[in-house]
Amino acid sequence: MDWITKTEPAMTTTEVNVLTLHGELATGPFRFVRFEIKKHVAGGVVKAGGTCERCSQAIANAVILTGSNGVNVTVGVDCARICTESAANRTARLAIESAERAHLRALAKAATTRREADMDAWLSDPSNTAKLATIPSPVAWRASNGDTMLDWLRWAFDNGGATYFRKCFVAAVKATVA
Ligand SMILES: [Zn+2]
Repeated sequence: MDWITKTEPAMTTTEVNVLTLHGELATGPFRFVRFEIKKHVAGGVVKAGGTCERCSQAIANAVILTGSNGVNVTVGVDCARICTESAANRTARLAIESAERAHLRALAKAATTRREADMDAWLSDPSNTAKLATIPSPVAWRASNGDTMLDWLRWAFDNGGATYFRKCFVAAVKATVA
């Protein structure tokens, strides 16, 4: 019953080994190779297209690592963290973190671009701008001068930042369907 009394070695010195899907053992410490998005579309739904070789879970964000024995392994972000916990993996761990941050930045940028494209599409439809031109400006004194929602939105575009304009845009779209 040796295993009961055996104390766990400190996480900082234990290297993690991962058996790949091809049956090879990738031994730690690891070197970071790259971050990869693995997605596939099935029936219009985006699904995780990869498999973590450590825990067998489906993954969309894959981290490719090279073991100290030169064997490559594909793992999810959580398992990549577990694989690189020891001190000898410091370089790999920092590289994974920085790749993750870059990925999140790219996602945020893509979301902004998508939102901007949506706004552009809505505003370039003349029936939408015609509707806006029939609604009085939400700013009372401007409305009393004959300003419309379209004038207000133009003003927001010229004078406000992206976040402010987006807020005004949402309000304007709501006003057209009210
Ligand atoms: Zn995993």
